[in-house]
Amino acid sequence: MSNTKPKHSLKGRTLYIPRMPYSGARVMAATFESIGVEARPVPPSDEHTKELGNKYTSGDECYPEKVTLGNFMGITEQEGFDPKKTAFMMMTANGPCRFGQYLIYQRKVLDDNGFEDVMILSPTSENSYEDIGGQDVIRTAWRGMVSSDILMKMLLKTRPYEINKGETDEVFEASLNDVCDAIREPGVTHKKKLTNMRNALTRARDAFRAIPADYDPERPLIGVVGEIFCRLNMFSNEDLVRKIEEQGGECWLSDVSEWVWYTNNEQQDNIRKKGKRVSLEMLGAKIKNAVQRKDEHALLEPFHEDFKGSEEPDVEEVLNYSYPYLPYTGALGEMVLSVGKAIYLHKKGADGIVDISPFTCMNGIVCEAIYPVVSRDYDHIPIRTFYFDGTQSDLESDVGIFLELAKAYKRRKRTKRVYSFKFEARAKAA
Ligand code: SF4
Repeated sequence: MSNTKPKHSLKGRTLYIPRMPYSGARVMAATFESIGVEARPVPPSDEHTKELGNKYTSGDECYPEKVTLGNFMGITEQEGFDPKKTAFMMMTANGPCRFGQYLIYQRKVLDDNGFEDVMILSPTSENSYEDIGGQDVIRTAWRGMVSSDILMKMLLKTRPYEINKGETDEVFEASLNDVCDAIREPGVTHKKKLTNMRNALTRARDAFRAIPADYDPERPLIGVVGEIFCRLNMFSNEDLVRKIEEQGGECWLSDVSEWVWYTNNEQQDNIRKKGKRVSLEMLGAKIKNAVQRKDEHALLEPFHEDFKGSEEPDVEEVLNYSYPYLPYTGALGEMVLSVGKAIYLHKKGADGIVDISPFTCMNGIVCEAIYPVVSRDYDHIPIRTFYFDGTQSDLESDVGIFLELAKAYKRRKRTKRVYSFKFEARAKAA
């Protein structure tokens, strides 16, 4: 990985962040802005993004790599682009699949095209985040990510029921701006920042609650799991969530925090495997986990009533559900989370499960092989994998067919959903 280590500084650069999801990129950008770094999400993707992705890949790479590389190379084409003033963020992990190679590959493509001066910021513990503010940035970024997850959840729980089309998206955007303003404010203590973010989220909660809506419990609830980038990057999945909503469903989308809890869990597991169960290393990992949990709890607390019945699980619970099919002691990564979360969602009363996967993704292929057995073991809940590679056709009709299955399941299922107070209010008024 030596050629991927940062040899540049972020000072004087604009940092571009992949949309995973859009709100996640916004809060991450605000985090960097809080320490004086100009940052923004990559521009929206379009057909040219795909063209560039195809141009600079060989065909063996996964779709998320094509989209992110297409995004980055699109920025190099912008008028006034200056490699010395540009940085790209690229998450990395040493997973079992191709993901670990993409940072190296992107560096090569940039270098081969004369953009050696573009910096790639790879948020791993490998570079200790020394040049971007260290632990302060990590903590603010975590709080931002939790806030993004909360806003997304409110968006998806409200939009399908709105009476005036477009209103929920507007509230979401305004709320995101408000939260980003709280994150962005420089020179604020951690405590004050948390208070400001929580206040912004509480305002968001009230704005979402005020949206005129008809909370009809007849809508099927569709759990959405799958590969993290394709699942959360709406361009990559052709906005599948919105298509499900337009055809009568409500989505419960697996969030980003889930992955962070999973990697925390993995970190502690790896320390144990090294025989350091009682060590400073383990203490550090546990403290980090506890601090993150405390921050998450503080930000989630105002949404207690809104999220009744749709609480996110502890990652251990998810791993235990997947264990009979994919033991986490041997299987790694998103496939374990997808299978375990699908079961959790069934238990919370979902009427169908959709797995969003890039075409040829190892995680998606393994999960697709396992889902028939999971469905058989859990009341025959419909589960379907949707693959994406940028060449979709008939998506609307596939969604329509799946929703018919989900509606049929909803009529006969044995696991009931717990509805929030908004549905209860409608039932009382009827
Ligand atoms: S998770 Fe799937 S899409 Fe992502 S890098 Fe691995 S194989 Fe590719």
